[in-house]
Amino acid sequence: MKKGLAALLFFVMWFALFPQTGQAAAGGTSIYLDGNKLELSKNGQVQNINGSVMIPIRVVVEELGYVVDWEKKTRTVTIQQQDTVMKLVVDQSTALVNGTKIQMPVAPKLVSDTVIVPLRFLGEQMGLSVSWDNQLKTVYLVTPAGGNGGETSPGDGGDGDTGTPPGDTDSGTQPGQTDNLANVGGISFSDNRLMIAVDQNVTPNVFTMANPQRVVIDLPNTKFADTFSSGYHLDSTQNGFIDITEYPEVSKVRYSLYNNNPSTVRIVLDMNVVKMGELINENDGLIILDLNKEVSIPGSNGKKLVVIDAGHGGKDPGAISVTGKKEKDFNLAVTLKVQELLKKETNIDFVLTRSSDTYPSLSDRVKIANDLNADLFISIHANAGSATASGVETYYTRSESLALAKVMHKYLVASSGLTDRGVRSKSLHVTRETKMPAVLLECGYLSNKSDNAKLYTEDFQDRVAAGIVKGIKEYLGLQ
Ligand SMILES: [Zn+2]
Repeated sequence: MKKGLAALLFFVMWFALFPQTGQAAAGGTSIYLDGNKLELSKNGQVQNINGSVMIPIRVVVEELGYVVDWEKKTRTVTIQQQDTVMKLVVDQSTALVNGTKIQMPVAPKLVSDTVIVPLRFLGEQMGLSVSWDNQLKTVYLVTPAGGNGGETSPGDGGDGDTGTPPGDTDSGTQPGQTDNLANVGGISFSDNRLMIAVDQNVTPNVFTMANPQRVVIDLPNTKFADTFSSGYHLDSTQNGFIDITEYPEVSKVRYSLYNNNPSTVRIVLDMNVVKMGELINENDGLIILDLNKEVSIPGSNGKKLVVIDAGHGGKDPGAISVTGKKEKDFNLAVTLKVQELLKKETNIDFVLTRSSDTYPSLSDRVKIANDLNADLFISIHANAGSATASGVETYYTRSESLALAKVMHKYLVASSGLTDRGVRSKSLHVTRETKMPAVLLECGYLSNKSDNAKLYTEDFQDRVAAGIVKGIKEYLGLQ
């Protein structure tokens, strides 16, 4: 496939890998596509540059059959797959995906006739599930049609959900950041309870994932205490695990420094049953996930389940406003206000894809909603464009989302008081890959002085949050 095109260029993808060691060799790294190991040609081998594993997209492009074009003059790579068109320019960290500017963790580079681009970024934009097994040094790519529930991954822990996510090129914690981080001093599992010792207040984000069944606990703004490795298994890449044999519901507890910026410790319980447990966090230094408590998984109680997705977060600021504010902060503020309103709704259950400044990947966000069989998915964003563009837009991808888009847009226009820029169809990862009606709301333009002045006010955010909840209720017939 596409071998002629490939003569022009070799792609290599970024894959952040050994954030602690920086320049570890990646010679033993393998790539599996839908469970099949890719044979890498001599000039398509995985590389590691500055702590990021670079993998040969050329191989993936050939295997996946994407259409690739390389314009030498402008140093632009165009990658097309079905209705997604991605333009990447060497040394520019902003990509154009279907005309929308998206920030990449690192800019594509030209290294001796080879264009290198970020793997996770490309994979997710193209709807692939991308994961990394740090122990096996293996990248797993799963196409939407090719996945069979994660069983294709050889070895243990192939889901990669505790690996350091690609895209983080930082080596270790930034100077000056250390003081603000909570230290995870210990993790233990006994009496069917997970216990996490921390030295500062932490607000965990708990969610479940299926196939295989897991409970994931993200601890934002945390790191492992310096003394942690003396008491617990922790390898040089800040990954470790505890085998659980005495409690039949859990097979393993895995933990890792999941992200460097913001520093996030992730703990994953590999479950033998579908269960989430109750989180007990009294900010007394001990966070407990109690599996003895029968807390049903959201949506399994007959209520309608809504997933609210605050766009971007963590290392991904989203758009930057004319006054230097970050889109991710607007998205989260509105999302938390929506949460407060949804708590009052007796017939609606909800799950947030993030409730603090963290960055779940696009495929994580989709997976949360799909695994839970959510009834609705609503992603909250703000837009950027020319200085004169102003107003609100509602995006959807699949036709079954149109009715939801129309209802949500009606309330978005009314509650924001901004110009109606219409309901629009676009291939966006989160609205395309979700399996339930899904929309992405652009609640105004951060690049517009007038819109921007409103978006960060409590009043505007309160009104938009109320509008979103009204839209949800109308669509679900819960008025
Ligand atoms: Zn956005």
